[in-house]
Amino acid sequence: MATQPDARAALDRLPRVTLAQLPTPFEPLPNLTRALGGPALFIKRDDQTGLATGGNKTRKLEFLVAEALGAGADTLITAGSTQSNHARQTAAAAARRGLACHLVLYAPDGIAPREITGNLLIDHLLGATIHWTEERAPYAATLARVEAEVRAAGRRPHLIPYGGSNALGVAAYASAFLELADQMAGGPDPAAPFDAVVFATSSGGTQAGLLLGAQIAGLAGATALHGVSVDQPRAGFAPRVEALLRDGAALLGAEVPAGPEIIIDDRHLGGGYAVVGEPEREAIHLMARHEGILVDPVYTGRALAGLIDAIRRGEWRRGQRVLFWHTGGAAALFAFGDALNIG
Ligand SMILES: *Cc1c(COP(=O)(O)O)cnc(C)c1O
Repeated sequence: MATQPDARAALDRLPRVTLAQLPTPFEPLPNLTRALGGPALFIKRDDQTGLATGGNKTRKLEFLVAEALGAGADTLITAGSTQSNHARQTAAAAARRGLACHLVLYAPDGIAPREITGNLLIDHLLGATIHWTEERAPYAATLARVEAEVRAAGRRPHLIPYGGSNALGVAAYASAFLELADQMAGGPDPAAPFDAVVFATSSGGTQAGLLLGAQIAGLAGATALHGVSVDQPRAGFAPRVEALLRDGAALLGAEVPAGPEIIIDDRHLGGGYAVVGEPEREAIHLMARHEGILVDPVYTGRALAGLIDAIRRGEWRRGQRVLFWHTGGAAALFAFGDALNIG
């Protein structure tokens, strides 16, 4: 599998603003490894990108905000759920760049929740204007209305897509994969790629980007890029990830073979999006108590639960090496105290 230097150069030429502290740490998880008795576990800390409690959207926003500034925008608009990490990071990026920010947030009946906590609390601190909606993702009608209102008020809005997942968001995670590949090359055992990289997948940009980065690094297929779906069955979601992968590849002039392997583990959908069950509770507690690292109730707790389950099923074993890609989200923990059975 050949490397693709021209695509890497195209990636390096994309307009980009600095929002994240990079490279994020890449470390072993010795205590969790011992506790689970399976493969050697490692972690990539994209919860430490640094933007108002960090997370994976910060990498995407470095490219998306550069595009907005290039277009002369003075206002960012995006959408998500009440506890959206993406919305919070977009609001923080806007604050850092002196832009206004409007957030379309979902709540049942379109009514603001009584308790302002977690990511929502931070959205307020960051100065975002919040528009509540009962429309479901991807919130197209409400976004169009808010965009028209902002324009009518004489501002220049720029729409950041749901989850930051478009060709630029994919390019950001291709860049993240290359960052990891560089860290591994300087690590203790550069010859041995991971057997698997495990991460939460939802709007698909992170997964498509990691897949694209593996193609560009010439490492496609060497490591299973194992997306744990937090909200969608594989059948409908895999074509979306492949479409994003092709959009990102087209942007960079990268080659992607027909029928790339897209691993979406949809065995952990539980009670649905943001419904915390016993697997997520166990995962959150294990990571906290063994490694002093916080995973979140909606995304990374579910992905880690998937990793733990796969180890218990014997799908990954002692002698193998598995990387958990932490995508952030711990600010939402504060909104889930009851669900975590604390107190
Ligand atoms: C958005 C998000 C994800 C999923 O990333 P996508 O690129 O949308 O698939 C995973 N983890 C956290 C914490 C997130 O906020």
